[in-house]
This record gives sequence, C-alpha cells and structure tokens, in this order.
Amino acid sequence: MDLRQHNLHVYNTLTRTREKFAPLDPPRVGMYVCGPTVYGDAHIGHAKSYVSFDVIVRYLRYLGYRVTYVQNITDVGHLTDDADEGEDKVERKAKAERVHPMAVAEMYTRRYFEDMDRLNVLRPDISPRASGHIIEQIELVKRLLAAGHAYEAGGSVYFDVASWPKYGRLSGRTVDQMQAGARVEVSAEKRAPADFALWKRAEPGHIMQWPSPWGMGFPGWHLECSAMSMKYLGESFDIHGGGIENQFPHHEDEIAQAEAATGKPFVRYWLHNNMVTVNGQKMGKSLGNFITLRKAFDKWGPMVLRYFILQSHYRSPLDFSDGALASASQGYVRLARDIMSIRKAAMAPSEGPADTTVVQTIEAVRSRFLEAMHDDFNTSIALSVLFELVTEGKLLAAKATVSQASLQMMSDAINELGGDVLGFSWGREGAKSSLRPLSELRTDEVESFRLMVNLMIQFRNALRQRKLFDLADMMRAGLEHELGIVFEDTPEGTKWRFK
Ligand SMILES: [Zn+2]
Repeated sequence: MDLRQHNLHVYNTLTRTREKFAPLDPPRVGMYVCGPTVYGDAHIGHAKSYVSFDVIVRYLRYLGYRVTYVQNITDVGHLTDDADEGEDKVERKAKAERVHPMAVAEMYTRRYFEDMDRLNVLRPDISPRASGHIIEQIELVKRLLAAGHAYEAGGSVYFDVASWPKYGRLSGRTVDQMQAGARVEVSAEKRAPADFALWKRAEPGHIMQWPSPWGMGFPGWHLECSAMSMKYLGESFDIHGGGIENQFPHHEDEIAQAEAATGKPFVRYWLHNNMVTVNGQKMGKSLGNFITLRKAFDKWGPMVLRYFILQSHYRSPLDFSDGALASASQGYVRLARDIMSIRKAAMAPSEGPADTTVVQTIEAVRSRFLEAMHDDFNTSIALSVLFELVTEGKLLAAKATVSQASLQMMSDAINELGGDVLGFSWGREGAKSSLRPLSELRTDEVESFRLMVNLMIQFRNALRQRKLFDLADMMRAGLEHELGIVFEDTPEGTKWRFK
C-alpha cells in the first residue's frame, strides 16, 4: 500500500514537544515497546499500555507504513527492587511454586498472549525473550567496558553514570536529585549511588545464571531492552514506547547503555502511556485493589475494556471503577448493536448506486477521524467521531429508499475506522456472527444463561417422559447446531457442555 499523505504529530517525551512524525527510513518504521515481566497474570495496567500501542501500530500501518513491532518478554533479571537489589521476580515466583523459573515464564507468557488476543491486540512481529539474548547482552557490556562507560566490581558490572553527561535527559532529573533519592547502603560496590547494574554476579542458590567474562551471573533488567531493540531494529530506530513509570530508571538507562556504546542517537520518538488507577488510587497487589485482566474480562468482557481504554487519551491517567466500566459497557453495547443493525440492513437486496450524500458524509467523517488521530493519536475524539458515523448509518438504514450500495459503503467505513484502526472485533470477523461470543458475557449474564439452559434440560426431560422423543431430539440437535451446547445424558441426569 502507498503511504498516505498525513499530518501526524506525536508527543515526544525526550524533547517534551509535539513533533511531526517523520521516520528515519520511510515507509519503514521500527517500533519497540517494553513488554511484560512474566511472573503473574496481566492486569488492567497492561491492557491500557498494550491496547494503546496496538492502536498506534494499527494506525501507522493504516497510513501505509511498514512497521516492525518488537515487544520483549522479560523472563530474567527484573528484580523486586529497582535499585539493583532484591530477588528476581520470576525466580521468586518459581521458588514459591516449586517449579523451574522457565516454567513460570513460559506459563505466564502463554497466558499473556491469550489475554492480549482476547483484547484483539495484534501480536508483535518479534517477541524476544531476555534469556534468549544473553550473548547479545554480554557483548553490549563488553562494548561499554571498552568505551570506558562501565566498570567491574566483584563479578558485577555497573554503568558509570558520571562518564555519561547526557544521563537524565529523558526523565529531566539531575544526577544530584537521583543520588539524593537512592539508598546508599545497598550499593557498596558502586562508585556512585546513581550507577546501575549491567551484569549481576549470581549469589549462591540463584537458578537463572550464565557464564560471562566476569563469572557466573545474569543481566541487569535494563540491558535486555537496549540489546534486543538494537538487534532487531538497528542502533537508531523510530519509536520506543512504554509506561510513564518506566521513564526512570528503565528508559533513562536504556538510552545511556545504547548511546554510550554506539555513539549514535538511540531512539527518535519516546512515547509514554499513563497509568491506571482504581477508584482514584494506585493499583497494587499489597493495596488489595489489584485487578487481573481475566477477572475484568469475566465481569465486563474484553471489548468493553478496550472501549473503556480508548475513551481516554493514552497520555492521560485512567481511573478504573465499577461505575465508569458500567457506563463504558452501555456505550459499547449501544455502538455494537447499532453497527449490527446497519450490517443487517446492508444485506437486504436493493438496487442503485451509493448516494452521493452518503459518500460525502463518509469523507467528512473520515477526515475528522484522521485529524483526531493525527493529534498524537487522540482516540477519545476518534471514538466520538465513530459514534457520529454510526448514528448517520442508523438513520440511513431506517430510510425506506436506501440503496444497498450506500449501506454497504457505510458498513465498510465503520469497519475501516472502528475495526482496522481502533481494533474492535465487530470488524470484519464479527460479520460472521451477530451473536456476542459466550466468552464475552458478564458474570450475571453467564448466570442467566446457566438458568436458561437448565430450564431447557427440564423441558426436554418432560418431553421424553411424555415419549415425545422426536421433539426432544429436535431440541437437542437445535441447541447443538445453533448455540454449540451439547447435552449428555448420564446416570446422574442430563449434563451440558459447550461443543
Ligand atoms: Zn524495556
């Protein structure tokens, strides 16, 4: 596809300005987003981050860019304490469950992708694992040592922040401020408290360890992102994304490691998405307000969550509360229902070309949608423009003299903006069935569903008692064929399951 003319501006955290988007080597775009540390199920904070970057990738592709999207999987080196101390998060979980750390990483990696699939988040082109790139990470440490930006101390290697005057450019912190905030007592090996670990010596009992020129050890968490992004996207690339909470120290350290080693600018545009709060409070396991995606899906369904996230801008904080989700649910259900009614109307045969006013309406709405997206991916406005388009479509579908071509054009435009760009699954694939997938039902709906199926079982039993076997069989076949519900007659009575 040709690259569209566009006026996309993005907010670059590095320069603190909105800049016109101009990649290094168009139409190619290299984009890296920090991925999850796989020691537990993904939560609603992950959904905000990865849905936001999913829309950014979708939109860049929509404009005609050939995006290579890399998102890492952290399976080693992320410690419980950001100050290079504490336990490895994956290893701690593995010890608690008495399994190998790689089993923990594998299980939660799979569950992470399952959750993202349900949110209709496109999979990255490359999902590199930190443990699979130890050689590249060791090579990067060697380069930093050779360039005089790192030093070894007792089998660990640290980045020498004093050797890199640009340190602090992204987060806007000075080294003095950082030193004041650091805990000096935990960093006896470091020359200065702001120095950070590139490679850590493995203490006795540490499972995830590899041989290195400095002895057995493991990479510091920040190192993997510099090493793996440069391996797949080159030493300079276009976009690096991540959560605002990772600006410091994680992203600051990534820049220092990469630029001190290569002497080249690392990333052109730094995009940071804001955090999720729960009822106005920070979310945390210890605070008791921690919401996993699986729990949120059970209650609201993945598409309602996607809709809720896209209602606000990615750089704004998002407050998660039952009330806010309930209204998002209403909004989404209305939108989905209206889209279904337009699609249904578009299937009715009716002659004639598309009405020119319909063509004009779609053009006008599309240009306002693009304008919103060009304003640093303002999905909040883009969604409201989509609502207007659906309202127009509904009015059109209600007309007695509308051509099928007009309705089809309307339906295609909705799929293009709402499905391809915003990533809602009532896009093209949703056209196969007008039913909401059962996996998307809320808990209370699942309960009603169960009651209904149990009533049908009782009704079928009554038919069989009256020897009306043909009717009983008809009911059984119909449920299996239409809804995928299978009845099984057992000595304990009739059980049901999904096909
Ligand atoms: Zn990272």
